[in-house]
Amino acid sequence: MANLKDIATTQGVETLAQNLGQPSDARVLEQIRAIVSKVISKHPELGKTTVEARPGLNNAFYNFDNKKITTGMLDPDVMAHELGHVENTANSPAYQILLRSVRGLASLNGTLAIPAMLGMHAFMGNAARKDAVRTLAGVSSMMAGPILTEELSASANAVMNSDDKIRTLKRVLPAFGAHSVSSLLPSILYQIDARL
Ligand SMILES: [Zn+2]
Repeated sequence: MANLKDIATTQGVETLAQNLGQPSDARVLEQIRAIVSKVISKHPELGKTTVEARPGLNNAFYNFDNKKITTGMLDPDVMAHELGHVENTANSPAYQILLRSVRGLASLNGTLAIPAMLGMHAFMGNAARKDAVRTLAGVSSMMAGPILTEELSASANAVMNSDDKIRTLKRVLPAFGAHSVSSLLPSILYQIDARL
C-alpha cells in the first residue's frame, strides 16, 4: 500500500491511477502530485499517511485512527479535501478525541432518534414530550457541530489549494451537503416531531 510520500512522486501518482483502474490524464495526476507534495513539504511527518486505492468507490475518506486515506477517486479537489482532514487532525490528540466522541454519539443518536420519539409518544404527556424533544433537538445539533465544522474546514482547504476555486467549490460543496444531512438528520427528526 502506498503512502503520501509515494503520491508526491510522478511514478507514485501513476501507480495510484493504475491501481484504481482509471485513465490517467497527465494534468490531473500532476495536480494531485503537486497538492500532496505541498502538504508534505510543510509537514514531512505526514508523508507516512497511508493511501489505499479502492477501485469502484465513488468517494474518499480519511480515518485518523489508522492514519489512512481511502480513495476511489482520482481528483485533486477530493485529495485536497482529505489532506485537509489529515492536516487538521495530525498532532492534535485532543481534537481527535473530540471528533471521535461526537461521531460515536452522533451515530448512536441517529440510531436512537426514531425509537426514542416513539417511546416518548407512548409514555409521555404531550407537553412534557414536546419539552424533551426540543431538548434532544438542541443536543443533536450541538453534537453535529464539530463534525460539520471539520468537514467545512477540509473543504475550505481544498478550495484554498485549488487553481480553479469555482470548480473546487462546485466539487466539494455537494460532499459537504451529504455530510450535513446525515449528521443533522436526528436533529431534524426531533424538530419535526416537536411540531406534531
Ligand atoms: Zn470529509
